[in-house]
Amino acid sequence: MSAARHVAVIGAGPAGLSAAHAALAAGARVTLVDSAEQPGGQYHRMLPAAYAAEHPERLHHDWPAFERRRRRVLAHPRCTWLPDSAVWMLEPPAPEPAGPPRVHLLCGGPADGSGRARRTLDADAVVLAVGAHDRVLPFPGWDLPGVFTAGAAQALAKGERVVVGDRVVVAGTGPFLLPVAASLLEAGSRVLEVLEAAGPATLARGWGRRPWELVPHTGKAGELAGYVALLARHRVRYRLGRTVVEARGEGRVEEVVTARLRPDWSVVPGSARTVPVDAVCVGHGFSPQLELPLAAGCVLRGEVAGGPPGAFVRVDDDQRTSVPGVFAAGEITGIAGAPAARAEGAVAGWAAAGGDPAARPLRALRRSRDAGRAFAERLARAHPVGAAWSGWLRAETVVCRCEGTDYGALCAAVTDRAGSAARVTKLTTRAGLGPCQGRVCGPTVAELTARLAGAPPDGEPHEGLPPAGPHRRPVAQPIRLGELAAPSAPTDERESSHE
Ligand SMILES: Cc1cc2nc3c(=O)[nH]c(=O)nc-3n(C[C@H](O)[C@H](O)[C@H](O)COP(=O)(O)OP(=O)(O)OC[C@H]3O[C@@H](n4cnc5c(N)ncnc54)[C@H](O)[C@@H]3O)c2cc1C
Repeated sequence: MSAARHVAVIGAGPAGLSAAHAALAAGARVTLVDSAEQPGGQYHRMLPAAYAAEHPERLHHDWPAFERRRRRVLAHPRCTWLPDSAVWMLEPPAPEPAGPPRVHLLCGGPADGSGRARRTLDADAVVLAVGAHDRVLPFPGWDLPGVFTAGAAQALAKGERVVVGDRVVVAGTGPFLLPVAASLLEAGSRVLEVLEAAGPATLARGWGRRPWELVPHTGKAGELAGYVALLARHRVRYRLGRTVVEARGEGRVEEVVTARLRPDWSVVPGSARTVPVDAVCVGHGFSPQLELPLAAGCVLRGEVAGGPPGAFVRVDDDQRTSVPGVFAAGEITGIAGAPAARAEGAVAGWAAAGGDPAARPLRALRRSRDAGRAFAERLARAHPVGAAWSGWLRAETVVCRCEGTDYGALCAAVTDRAGSAARVTKLTTRAGLGPCQGRVCGPTVAELTARLAGAPPDGEPHEGLPPAGPHRRPVAQPIRLGELAAPSAPTDERESSHE
């Protein structure tokens, strides 16, 4: 353990804040970076300072513990907190990748802001805790105004107190649909129904297996019970094995078509019905944000070369990745919820700081982390995305919203020209080349391409280029040409060891 050891933590959600806390406790100097104005991540998304909530504890679970940790970390004399600071690139050290990468930052403003300054950060260890974003499958009409991702609707309700509509249907899969519905109700929307695509048998198989393993997660059960009670109070129907397969309207969504699903998510004939709405919120699980881990060179697990989602950062018992000096924690290593992310973060922060591996509190943290990993597997089994969802698509259904590429164009490109070569599909259809750079459509296009070509996308390197894949994005955040051209400065003179 050394007071001089410097740990950079990227992401100040449950995993990152916990990593910073543990690294400080182990004696390290910490730089905590987040592109948001406030720590908290997705779980403790805070209202902007200009209209902060008077009683945040009423809006958030585990608020007192979060608030204590937040204060301790930000006020710590060995902690430098960099809010509004996006990591846009990780640069492996040359010539041999023997240590953690240099962190390139854009500091001092939101993603679309001006006047941001370029900075670099060189630390002895880097903890990546950048979380996930919600995944949405395309369906006819999903590009109409009034169709929201569940995460965006929740962010507006929780982070801005803005409601997306008066009559809303929430659909998709996973327990996350419940807090989304709760946030909408609390912000004043009328939620007509919550549609969970998994049927009773799939849910029972996932959640009912080895029920004693759920004992460490009684906190989650309490949280769940709170949502169920809220939904019951507002008379919100919760239906299993049904989902939204089409949105319709003139200029914006006016009604949705919902249908019963078989376990593979093919539609049960004759089960469709229409529901008048003015907004619909959909979420089909989460995609880990893998661009920074990939830029650092971290090996993934569960990866099909260049293929559909299911890949996470591979870590060992101390949350070490395959790259020396780089640790990973939270949703990028598996989707298991905030408590598991916190436990992983604490293990990662302690190890990154060079803390004593035999320290007593570490044993309990590791147990809690392992319980979180088991929970992640259970969650994935109970809420799988059925392979037959592509049956909802029509030739004219848009799959890449930024570039307006439709399913018909993708089918033609794969069958006529590209086969499973991810790069050729991209260049011929432009899917994934728009402003979001494939963040939304990338995993979907990779999955559809694999299915159409009858083979996983070709993830082999071509002409010296690294393999293409839905998460390979060397420039991880948008950067203006002016910002790129401007010189960068180290965040701190002591950190400029290889400037
Ligand atoms: C949209 C959404 C809403 C959710 N809502 C709920 C909920 O209501 N209840 C619930 O139980 N679970 C919710 N979850 C799941 C929940 O996010 C996780 O269980 C938990 O927050 C994961 O913690 P984390 O630290 O891994 O990631 P996060 O909480 O996502 O934190 C990651 C942090 O990294 C920062 N970051 C990412 N990239 C960069 C970058 N390049 N540069 C700088 N900073 C960066 C982000 O700003 C963020 O603060 C939600 C997930 C999502 C995606």
